[in-house]
Amino acid sequence: MSRRPLIAGNWKMYLSMDEAVQLASSIASSCRGIDDLDVMLAPPFIFLQAVSESVQGSPVKIAGQNVCWESEGAFTGEISPVMLKAAGAGMVILGHSERRHIFQESDELVNKRLLGALRFDLIPILCIGETLDEREDERTFEVLGQQLKKGLADVSLEDAEKVVIAYEPVWAIGTGKTATREQAQDAHYYIRGVLSGLYEKKLADKVRILYGGSVKPENIDSLMAEPDIDGALVGGAALKSESFDRIIHFNR
Ligand code: PEP
Repeated sequence: MSRRPLIAGNWKMYLSMDEAVQLASSIASSCRGIDDLDVMLAPPFIFLQAVSESVQGSPVKIAGQNVCWESEGAFTGEISPVMLKAAGAGMVILGHSERRHIFQESDELVNKRLLGALRFDLIPILCIGETLDEREDERTFEVLGQQLKKGLADVSLEDAEKVVIAYEPVWAIGTGKTATREQAQDAHYYIRGVLSGLYEKKLADKVRILYGGSVKPENIDSLMAEPDIDGALVGGAALKSESFDRIIHFNR
């Protein structure tokens, strides 16, 4: 089953407006002519509009780094799916480990956000991943299974097809430590099995599962060579056009 690869850049809370626009334009130019993969950028909310304008006419897709489940209301500090779309976003990252661990977002909250995103036609990237302690206690699969089941609660088969999963081991994010290609492939294979159990094999075969955690030019080719790795969610290496450009142009 061939799944269209997705290379996604998470800019977190980095860059100035000028840097964001410049980086986006440079990525948009290096994507021109590419028709065999999707490329996505998730800038801070305040840069969404400017970044989406600067990639117009290119295949680059824009995402929010989080989203509320309501279209409007008294939710200080939040952003609605309608607002994200108005600013040019078609996708949204949800349940990132920094949201889970720094801001205590629970699986239930992540699920609420995900249902809201789907209701307003935003494609969610649901991030899941184990901590170092959980891996050392051999609880990786248990944790991934729980995060998936809870994160996808009440999501219909039709909607589940649109969701992208990102496997991001917490111990590999921003640490320079990458999961080996075998560790990543094992986790992705397991995730696909859980999706097959929750829905059906046909669905599991269609869903894209990205790897995230210190992805860089040096390791992208070997990760992408694994059968269940369909792309990457990139943090640090997405902040420089040279490194992100090399990641987009992985060996294929
Ligand atoms: C991320 O922010 O999702 C991430 C994987 O970061 P990094 O690539 O820097 O580890």
